Amino acid sequence: LEWLYSFMIRLRLPGGFITPEQWVGLHEVAGKHSTGTIKITTRQTVQLHGILKSHLRPTIQEFNLQHLDSIAACGDVNRNVTCTSNPSESPVHQEVYELAGKISEMCLPKTKAYYDIWIDNELLIDRKAEEDPLYQDRYLPRKLKIGIAIPPNNDVDVFINDIALITIIENDQIIGYNIAAGGGLGATHSNEATYARLASVLGFVDTEEKALKAVYEIITVQRDFGNRSDRKLSRLKYTIDKLGIDQYKAEVEKRTGFAFEPAREFKFEQRKDRYGWIKNHEGKWFYTLFVEHGRVLDTQEYPLKSGLLKIAETGKVNFRFTCNQNLILSDIEEADKNEIENLLKTYGIFNYTEEASALRKNSVACVALNTCSLALAEAQRYLPSLVTKIEPVLGKHGLLDEDITIRMTGCPNGCGRSPNAEIGFVGTAYGKYNLHIGGDRLGMRLNTKFKENIGEEEILNTLDELFGIYVKGRNGEETFGDFSYRYLQTLK
Ligand code: SF4
Repeated sequence: LEWLYSFMIRLRLPGGFITPEQWVGLHEVAGKHSTGTIKITTRQTVQLHGILKSHLRPTIQEFNLQHLDSIAACGDVNRNVTCTSNPSESPVHQEVYELAGKISEMCLPKTKAYYDIWIDNELLIDRKAEEDPLYQDRYLPRKLKIGIAIPPNNDVDVFINDIALITIIENDQIIGYNIAAGGGLGATHSNEATYARLASVLGFVDTEEKALKAVYEIITVQRDFGNRSDRKLSRLKYTIDKLGIDQYKAEVEKRTGFAFEPAREFKFEQRKDRYGWIKNHEGKWFYTLFVEHGRVLDTQEYPLKSGLLKIAETGKVNFRFTCNQNLILSDIEEADKNEIENLLKTYGIFNYTEEASALRKNSVACVALNTCSLALAEAQRYLPSLVTKIEPVLGKHGLLDEDITIRMTGCPNGCGRSPNAEIGFVGTAYGKYNLHIGGDRLGMRLNTKFKENIGEEEILNTLDELFGIYVKGRNGEETFGDFSYRYLQTLK
């Protein structure tokens, strides 16, 4: 006899794209081997929970038949590469999506042990052929995240990544990328040496080849200079702050063999997903639907999972995950739009998306209890009911239509990106949270801890008070985040 171990599996999906056939496969695997819930993550992929040990190989093998894998989706390597989700945002989307795939391929570990262990149970190749120039014999000190944004949309929250690429576009053509490094939102309670940080812009490169080279060498610098004696201080952000940005950048440039040009101007205008129907430049349709905290499941009131299966079975839509934990039904031909909309209506998905409040649609939560072993508090199972209680408070102050970002994590690891929300909650104990305010709406500024270790009643009273001060003191269209930031300065 042994413990009844259960596991989580996360897919590697650079750019967050799957076909309708793959969605059907994912639906079946989730039902057969996991809790059944398909969880869309903040890294533009999906994970399944509650997979019993005896189901692990069948799960991975069935994914493999769908051409889906889980390689490097966890561990001290480059993780899933994210990029702006919605192709209708820009004619350059396809190029950027392909770059996400190239980065993902470039950064894959060379070992084929995944296939040996999970698929075939035999040594397939000569190990010498697996020599890995990127990770060598030691991998990275910790995980590494890469994201690519296409301004004016920062839906990927690009600056929270260890490596951030901002696409620079002129006349609908990509002319290069600003490259930033050192983002990461994780910290540890009562360890002052740890902190959330946004990536620092190193400069501009004018070709995709240079962008790939810069990404590669940023990783080799992290491999060689990252802290391997303390995992709490081993992310790339600490390496940059230890070396200093100038020395760090010089080391990267020495390895790339070229200097970064001065960063080009760019402007983000939004970070949220564009819900509802949008048509792209090729005349294809995209429907972004709201999935509260990325949880695709059926309830008696809302058969979301069944509805998405029916839609996938038409074979007329592709599926794209967003870093805000939502789903885009994409690449729909004009002739098929009505059929898809009818299915969206039949299963209540259309109304659910239309009717959710602005606050709810701007909410993000990590899995936390009861599936994440690091969680100190609830997040995805609690934030929906907290939002229901905050909505009337917002209504009282006439703020129901405000797109305020609100995020909750069950611990300070930052998977739900609380540290750069306008209202951020970080779990401290069961039912208790630190409340952070003052982050901006576009993901360019971190928030600040305002109250510590508070429960629901104090959360609601504090927000009531803050919303009241905001309504009286805001400058014109000033966002809640910008106002809170200004307000915090007055308290110093
Ligand atoms: Fe990440 Fe912490 Fe949430 Fe777990 S509880 S998913 S580690 S933020």
